[in-house]
Amino acid sequence: MYADMQYFDTLDSEQKTLSIRLVAALIMFFIALSLNLSRIVLFLSFFIPYTLIGYDVLFYAVKNILHGQWLDERFLMSIASIGAFALKDYAEAFAVMFFYQLGELFQSIAVGKSRKSIEELLSLAPETATRLINGTEETISPEEILIGDTIVVKPGERVPIDGRIIKGSTSLNTSDITGESAPVEVAEGDMIYSGSINISGSILLLAESEYENSTIAKIMDLIENSAGKKSKSEKYITRLARYYTPFVVVSAVLLSTIPPLVLNEAFLKWFERALVFLVASCPCALLISIPLSFVRGLGTASKHGILMKGASELEKLSEVDTFIFDKTGTLTEGSFTVSDVHSDNVDKDSILEISAIAESQSTHPIAASLKEACLKEPDISRLGGVTEHAGKGIQATVDNKEYFIGNTALMELVNADYKECSFPDTIVHMSKGNDYMGHIVISDQIKSKAKNSINKLKGQKIERIIMLSGDRKPVVDATSKTVGIDESYAELLPTDKVEITERIMHDGNKVAFVGDGINDAPVLTVADVGIAMGALGSDVAIEAADIVLMDDNLLKLPLALSIARKTMRIVKQNTTISLAFKAAVLILGAFGQVEMWLAVFADVGVMILAVLNSLRTGHMKTNTQ
Ligand code: ADP
Ligand code: MG
Repeated sequence: MYADMQYFDTLDSEQKTLSIRLVAALIMFFIALSLNLSRIVLFLSFFIPYTLIGYDVLFYAVKNILHGQWLDERFLMSIASIGAFALKDYAEAFAVMFFYQLGELFQSIAVGKSRKSIEELLSLAPETATRLINGTEETISPEEILIGDTIVVKPGERVPIDGRIIKGSTSLNTSDITGESAPVEVAEGDMIYSGSINISGSILLLAESEYENSTIAKIMDLIENSAGKKSKSEKYITRLARYYTPFVVVSAVLLSTIPPLVLNEAFLKWFERALVFLVASCPCALLISIPLSFVRGLGTASKHGILMKGASELEKLSEVDTFIFDKTGTLTEGSFTVSDVHSDNVDKDSILEISAIAESQSTHPIAASLKEACLKEPDISRLGGVTEHAGKGIQATVDNKEYFIGNTALMELVNADYKECSFPDTIVHMSKGNDYMGHIVISDQIKSKAKNSINKLKGQKIERIIMLSGDRKPVVDATSKTVGIDESYAELLPTDKVEITERIMHDGNKVAFVGDGINDAPVLTVADVGIAMGALGSDVAIEAADIVLMDDNLLKLPLALSIARKTMRIVKQNTTISLAFKAAVLILGAFGQVEMWLAVFADVGVMILAVLNSLRTGHMKTNTQ
């Protein structure tokens, strides 16, 4: 009993009130049953407990009718129970409403439990931050942090803001935001993101964003919008209802009119059967278990750092048969290292220096490597205007002279007489105006999990796996061979990537595009499902994608796919079980073989079964190491 009371305490106030109403009404009901009362008193003694449990259902039914949405389950329950009162089946009228509300309570508790696991994720918001001003520390709320503030993060504290480490080194636990359990080592100069926990050393951070634009604020927004909202998961139900509801209503009307006319029987008898039929038709199990399954699936995914924007994105992923990968930064590390500089007339150091200055504002992985290869810190005051040519490279003014740095397409654009390189690496050509200067040879590394991930996807019956890249053919061919992709396209512009993806979709394939969000936001948007990898810190990717993988772990792809498929499998199982059961009850009801309260009671049974089935999504093998 004590345990029961404890359980009662975990309910929210609405659930508590409903429980009390149910218990009180049930007691009144049994008293009414046991008494031998005159007619009008008898009616009242059932009607009072009935209204006690059902007043809100009746109220919403009327309200929905006024709004023109008259065919929901509350309407069905109201019609049925009022009909039962009219037929003087008082106990039955009560039972219909009682079982319906019992089911509602059960649903609310089950959905609440799943929502909680998502809300736990929301607790990763940092509560305070420590700002360093003139050597003194002050405690502020993260919302008060300004760009450029120096923030102290001590061991055990949560990083309150996105920023760069200016002093100290430590290891971070990023599992709350990326789902990755291994700690990440960071040191001076590294960019770190809010939401991770500082494990070992004290560090000083230079704030690079305000709280509302920080990674953590964006993630929380996403989680709240995807899993918190019920409406999106109801699309599936709406689609079902489009066929189901009219079918049921028409059948009920026919049932109450045709047989009495044809068989010359009492209208009342068939009217009663039509009522049973209507009540029995209410797909409570579906209305409850479907949103619940989606919430579970989305919650399981976000626990692993896979953020799906909603139920329809999850559903679409489950149907995907083709994966298209971007190369740079997606299948490869995107951390290039300069291995050579080839030039006939300019010295290597100035090529590296000018390229580092020119690329200093770019977020492309190539830019980072060029900045790193330059021995000197790039002097940004020498930089004038910069224009990025997506998929080609950049154009920048350095010391008042115009430079072009990028691939052969860019060289052709400015009519520079470039030299092909025989190395099977990524080549960055450079020209001053149309005057060719030489090229930088850089090499990238394929991610260690790439091959394994592709293999797993193949094992999951993904029919086609394709690689698209803006890089040179030799590099693309070598990469696709190593990771086990048979179909690849090289030297593409972002618009070409869109075109190829559209063509493949046009062939009837359901396409997921996986990219890193740099230069590929258009494809992410066009594909049936856009998946952005390593999105930590990338706003573009978070906005353009349907599914966001917070970290770089490619094995999260097969995992996301199995979560989506399992969720949809459960949704479909529940749909089939409930509809099959419905069909049986409806047929029996039409022949007068089922009493109304039994129909509702049995529906609660199927609902409990469906809900238990929904909860299975939480238990999955999830090895991504
Ligand atoms: P991928 O499709 O492999 O991800 P991108 O579309 O990002 O590659 O870029 C395609 C090619 O354009 C790169 O291989 C590179 O040659 C060139 N490029 C793009 N951006 C830059 C840049 N900032 N600096 C130099 N070259 C660039
Ligand atoms: Mg890329």
